[in-house]
Amino acid sequence: MQTELYIDGTFGPADDGATFPAVDPATEQEFAAVASGGASDIDRAVHAARSAFDSGVWSGLSPIVRAAFLRKIAQGIIENLDRLSRLETQDNGKPLPEAKWDIEDAAFCFEYYAEMIETEAGENSQLVDVGDSRFESAIRREPVGVVAAITPWNFPMLMAVWKLAPALAAGCTVVLKPSELCSLTCYELAKIIDAAGVPKGVFNLVTGMGYSAGAALTAHKLVDKIAFTGSVVTGEKVMQAASVGIRTVSLELGGKSPLIVFDDCQIDKAVEWIMFGIFWNKGEVCSATSRVLVHEKIYRKLIARLKAETERIVIGPGTHQGVKLGPIVSRGQYDKILAVLQRARNSGATLLTGGGRPKGLDRGYYIAPTIYTDVPYDAEIWCDEIFGPVVCLNSFETEAEAIELANDSPFGLAAAVMSDDLDLCDRVAAKLRAGIVWINCSQPTFVQAPWGGYKASGIGRELGRAGYEAYLETKQITRFEHTQDWGWYQGAEVS
Ligand code: NAD
Repeated sequence: MQTELYIDGTFGPADDGATFPAVDPATEQEFAAVASGGASDIDRAVHAARSAFDSGVWSGLSPIVRAAFLRKIAQGIIENLDRLSRLETQDNGKPLPEAKWDIEDAAFCFEYYAEMIETEAGENSQLVDVGDSRFESAIRREPVGVVAAITPWNFPMLMAVWKLAPALAAGCTVVLKPSELCSLTCYELAKIIDAAGVPKGVFNLVTGMGYSAGAALTAHKLVDKIAFTGSVVTGEKVMQAASVGIRTVSLELGGKSPLIVFDDCQIDKAVEWIMFGIFWNKGEVCSATSRVLVHEKIYRKLIARLKAETERIVIGPGTHQGVKLGPIVSRGQYDKILAVLQRARNSGATLLTGGGRPKGLDRGYYIAPTIYTDVPYDAEIWCDEIFGPVVCLNSFETEAEAIELANDSPFGLAAAVMSDDLDLCDRVAAKLRAGIVWINCSQPTFVQAPWGGYKASGIGRELGRAGYEAYLETKQITRFEHTQDWGWYQGAEVS
């Protein structure tokens, strides 16, 4: 398989013909050559997006017509559900049923924003009372312009669609730069968008490296908004780039999310949500609940149960039946996690299970589901995002202590609380400094509800109504009743 860039409605190679390999993390084998775009390709793509935006070929369409395109894209995704899911699994390593969730969610996201603009078609002006009858003031919402979308590898197609669907719905044009670790489903998405007949230049895809294609895209002067999902380190660079020329930026960054388990919880339920919260998608989830705080009364019992259940998790290639934990996305990420686990040996934490490569799997980037207990609060594994199947547990005594420990992090993406006492859950949820709080569950995500973080976890929200408004500018149009006099300057008196 050899992929191409998609610029101004045409598929083609990078200007210098460069490619990089896509590697199947289950086999460590290269299986595709991906076009590696650079600064000149980015320049062509941004110019195409700029011309398409400025011409009004997309933003000038009625929302009903734009929605029809979005629905066609959704249909194209669903028609290719099986093929796209398998490709996602091959590229990223995630279990096939989880890849299917992603692809179905991606299709639904297009449907959701199609419906939003169909419902609101023709309602794009709202009067405001300015308290002076000589004036009429109206608020109009307009597309923000050319969007640079830069996305990570953990949900390769879905993270792109979280930006693309609302941006296209709003009337923006887009240049997408997916992660170099997983670009293939975004390439397939470009083919679907092309087949849907979306006008040329409206959507452009430049696969390539972050330090070249990504940096060139964020620095490009003709970009109006940068929508970024990735690590905090890169997010800081993106924000710096956006500061030149003062461009709008939204950031969806990392996390170290807490899950608080109170002593009235059924242990089985808590164990299932703890496991799902950290082991689904191999723990490569920005909102993974990787710090678990358990009431001391049930702490020992819970960790015994968690250990037993975790050791039953089926690990293997994502395409194999029954597999719940696939390989880590790449050699680089795998080595990074192993290095963290190595350092954790001297951290003072107790390794309950896992801690390295699982037995019996000698090919593929596998890491056994790993649990640490009694973890010092200053340990790297407690404080830093690991982005793998590694969870830390500690106990607490009081509600106040649990809240304080949960909030003691520079991140604030997600948090979860479990108790049969719903008043307690509501009280705790109100005090958790995070953009997403789950009660009696962890991770379920809905296109209809806003997604994003407090603190170092980001700026802005995706999904829901907020995710659409993120691609709109607000304009006021204020009209003076021209039959009236203003009276500031009456003209010179002539004697
Ligand atoms: P990353 O920051 O390494 O890369 C993200 C994207 O940025 C990639 O496309 C990469 O090529 C690009 N990039 C790298 N350097 C760049 C530069 N200098 N200029 C512009 N672009 C550049 O992140 P990753 O490893 O791909 O993804 C994992 C991170 O993403 C984790 O921290 C995770 O928490 C976060 N994440 C957050 C959310 C969320 O919704 N908050 C969702 C998924 C992932």
